Amino acid sequence: MPEPNQSPIPYGRQSISEEDITAVTRALRSDFLTTGPEVEAFEREFAQFVGAKHAVAVANATAALHLAMRVAGLEPNERVVTSPNTFVASANCAAFVGARPDFADIDPTTYNLCPKSLEANWQKDTRAVIPVAYGGQSADMPRIAGIARKRGAVVIEDGCHGTGGGFIHDGEFHRIGGHPWADMTTFSFHPVKTMTTGEGGILLTDNDGYAAMARRLRSHGIERDEGHFTGLGAGSGPLAERGPWSYEMQDLGYNYRITDFQCALGRSQLKRLPTFIQRRREIVARYNEAFKDLDWLRTPAVSDEANRATISWHLYTVQIDFPALGLTRSEVMQRLREDGVGSQVLYIPVYLQPWYRRTYGYGPGKCPQAEAFYANCLSLPLYPDLTEDEIGRVIESVSKLK
Ligand SMILES: *Cc1c(COP(=O)(O)O)cnc(C)c1O
Repeated sequence: MPEPNQSPIPYGRQSISEEDITAVTRALRSDFLTTGPEVEAFEREFAQFVGAKHAVAVANATAALHLAMRVAGLEPNERVVTSPNTFVASANCAAFVGARPDFADIDPTTYNLCPKSLEANWQKDTRAVIPVAYGGQSADMPRIAGIARKRGAVVIEDGCHGTGGGFIHDGEFHRIGGHPWADMTTFSFHPVKTMTTGEGGILLTDNDGYAAMARRLRSHGIERDEGHFTGLGAGSGPLAERGPWSYEMQDLGYNYRITDFQCALGRSQLKRLPTFIQRRREIVARYNEAFKDLDWLRTPAVSDEANRATISWHLYTVQIDFPALGLTRSEVMQRLREDGVGSQVLYIPVYLQPWYRRTYGYGPGKCPQAEAFYANCLSLPLYPDLTEDEIGRVIESVSKLK
């Protein structure tokens, strides 16, 4: 039994090893705290791991999504469609550039953007689609890319939940970030995600131009490479003189840089990622087995059994028939908390957020599947450092709800 004042098992948390700490310490003792060799090495290693040509590491995944919008050239009054079942950042990035975030409904099995709904709700001004790999399971990227590209739209996969995972298509394994059905992919390294750099994110692409522009915008749109200079407009004379000090701001960018000590942690965590993913899969299998006979609870479903062994699970989200159970969601969460088990509700459909309702006039009824999912969802603790005792406590606490 938990101690009365012990904080409950959270729904997610980081795993930090002595090797991680050593890696960060080494970076702190080096000459570079930022814009140094750890950043480049992390980008190279991460790109190689997922199978992408370029990786641009940034301050967080929200920044990566914002850069993706800028790089894709999204403009005011163009439309960007994403899943309503996501963290607000997947949609906010469109609003950052003045575009209109919009939503198509989710598939009731995978809780991911539904290709049919995307197609049915397509508008003439839709210029980008941002499918989200909810819980870690990738959306149906080949179908979504087929729909979007035929209509001239860019595809950006928000892979923040699915780092290191993938899917099977036509019998072949494809990794998120390294498959041909996204023009850009983003991952987050926030501590609740699959691997961490504290705060951090990364943008993956095979497109040389996209990568170069993302790099430039990451640091104020400034170019230091003379090959990209266009001049300061000062003709000849002292103002036109160029030297080692020269730089040109070619675009309006940001400070979205990540530090070297964060990337040192990222490199160390990347080595541990396969172990993290494996452990998460084991825990998911344990929960699925333990909960399979509860008729008031639905365990996470996969689109295709062949995919099961390829998914990198971030969340363990169940659907609960609260009326059948005879308890409200708040009561369930309270009961679990009394047993020292934390839980979380992920997600409230983004378009129901007051800012979205005020700004775009969205409201209830827009995406019925996403609303039905929200009404029944609950995410249970899932992270690699969960002990056997804690897994047992979660299972027991849920099983005895009825
Ligand atoms: C966490 C998350 C983000 C944002 O990541 P940050 O690194 O916190 O900015 C974006 N999209 C999804 C789906 C996420 O889960």
